Amino acid sequence: MVYDVAIVGTGPAGLSAALTLKLHNKEIVWFGSAALSDKVGKSEKIANYPGVPMVSGAELNAKFSEQAEEMGIELTDKKVTNIADLGDKFMLLADNEVYEAKTVLLTTGIPQAKGMENEERLLGSAVSYCATCDGFLYKDKTVAVYCTDERMAHDIDYLEEIAAKVYVYTNFGYSNESPKIEILDKPIKKIDGAMKAEAVELSDGRRIDVDGVFILRPAIAPSTLFTGLELDGAHIKVDRNQETNYKGCFAAGDCTGRPYQIAKAVGEGNVAAHAILERLAE
Ligand SMILES: Cc1cc2nc3c(=O)[nH]c(=O)nc-3n(C[C@H](O)[C@H](O)[C@H](O)COP(=O)(O)OP(=O)(O)OC[C@H]3O[C@@H](n4cnc5c(N)ncnc54)[C@H](O)[C@@H]3O)c2cc1C
Repeated sequence: MVYDVAIVGTGPAGLSAALTLKLHNKEIVWFGSAALSDKVGKSEKIANYPGVPMVSGAELNAKFSEQAEEMGIELTDKKVTNIADLGDKFMLLADNEVYEAKTVLLTTGIPQAKGMENEERLLGSAVSYCATCDGFLYKDKTVAVYCTDERMAHDIDYLEEIAAKVYVYTNFGYSNESPKIEILDKPIKKIDGAMKAEAVELSDGRRIDVDGVFILRPAIAPSTLFTGLELDGAHIKVDRNQETNYKGCFAAGDCTGRPYQIAKAVGEGNVAAHAILERLAE
């Protein structure tokens, strides 16, 4: 099926757009996390969002969730790892499944982590963001995993089944008794290799030879998610309709620039939704 809109991101920007698009009976696929927005969740007290004075982030996320449910908006708890423009539609890859949509809205927030050295250069050359997509390439081989997304822990389990040896760094206390697993106490800082990843370097200078590297973070930099997407510094460049340099691909919220605020995210999500409605009517 070809959806009218694929929304990537379950923060306030994505929800705002989803509500408006749903009211107009559009077929939506909404990718993100069942926890909605980690950023909102981390806010102790939000004092500047109209209508809900001094609300905690956890309470606001719960209200967002309730509203989405009441409106019949379903969430697809998957991470989008790649988007491509096919001309008349877009193709999205999420947890190894392919989705198609006439338009795309990126509401991915701001990735908190900086990429590691050589990550962008070697991505696709024995460096991957998706174990369920690329894990089979490393049967009986040695891989390193850098994981800061607890929801992706199952990807580490999956690599343990396939690979001969798995070096694992996580920031959430992953444990696995398998002799194939070696837990690293220091994070991976650098990937080495000329044409493909050949080794990783840890923050204490240790070097480990590997056949592949898996980087599993909650968010992916927009330039990696969608090759050719025009940026303005770290942000996605958009026009006043929130449209990117790809016709039919829109962006809203923190990912388009400062101020990083819920009201701005909600407002931009709404503008994008209306622009998408116009584009779909064309
Ligand atoms: C501690 C803290 C306190 C704050 N306090 C306030 C405040 O008081 N007032 C205020 O207005 N703002 C506050 N903010 C800022 C506010 O939380 C953000 O501006 C707002 O959440 C941005 O919304 P967003 O929808 O753009 O992105 P986010 O809320 O960051 O949501 C993005 C979502 O997209 C998902 N995602 C990303 N990439 C992918 C992908 N490839 N596939 C699937 N899903 C993906 C993420 O998992 C996340 O769920 C605070 C932020 C923090 C961290």
